[in-house]
Amino acid sequence: MALLPGSKKFFLNLLVHRCIGCGSRMVPGKSRFCSWCLIRMYPDHERITCGIRVLTAFLHAGVIREMMLRLKFGGERHLGCELARLSLDSWKEVPSKEDLIFPVPVSRKRLRERGYNQAALLAMAVAGETGAVYKDPMIRKRGESQINVPGASRAENIKGKFSVSSGTVCNGRVWLIDDVMTTGSTITEIVSTLSDAGIHKVQPAVVCFREIDEESIIAGKEVNHAGF
Ligand SMILES: [Zn+2]
Repeated sequence: MALLPGSKKFFLNLLVHRCIGCGSRMVPGKSRFCSWCLIRMYPDHERITCGIRVLTAFLHAGVIREMMLRLKFGGERHLGCELARLSLDSWKEVPSKEDLIFPVPVSRKRLRERGYNQAALLAMAVAGETGAVYKDPMIRKRGESQINVPGASRAENIKGKFSVSSGTVCNGRVWLIDDVMTTGSTITEIVSTLSDAGIHKVQPAVVCFREIDEESIIAGKEVNHAGF
């Protein structure tokens, strides 16, 4: 049976290799990204916030920033796996099978609006790739989102906003996974909540670090690491 013209185009498109980052057509090969997207990745490996070492994979810039926005606001859930794989290649350490993987929780309101927690998609993919165990025992209480809160007020805004299910124990480390770190106040607060619950070996790890330009006349303006 002959295929209709539209169907033929659809099936031919399935065979075409396209860059995960920009969707451009590529010559089939090992890389899932075109050379233009590969040079628009800005690796970043570690940040210290309130004495806590946070593993970071990239700066919030270039193609990683674009993919992050597509994951968070464009409903492209499959990018959680792609970003988790890229992060595992970039982090200085990776989880072992004895470790637990926790996502940073979002509020119930945000979960209802978006339909998913992007940090949970990343955390599940990290667990799947490493053999570590995924758990989601953290709850984020009601309160104002951190998005529109100025850097200096973020720690105060997030204080006391998390709780952890009782009976959560771990023999290895707990990996706390989030998509973006800005001031680190959310991570600091969760590490403190886990410590109060008796969980002290916590390794936070994020896909990217977003730096705010404190000297900009525009409040909350992020540093443009990509330079364009
Ligand atoms: Zn590309």
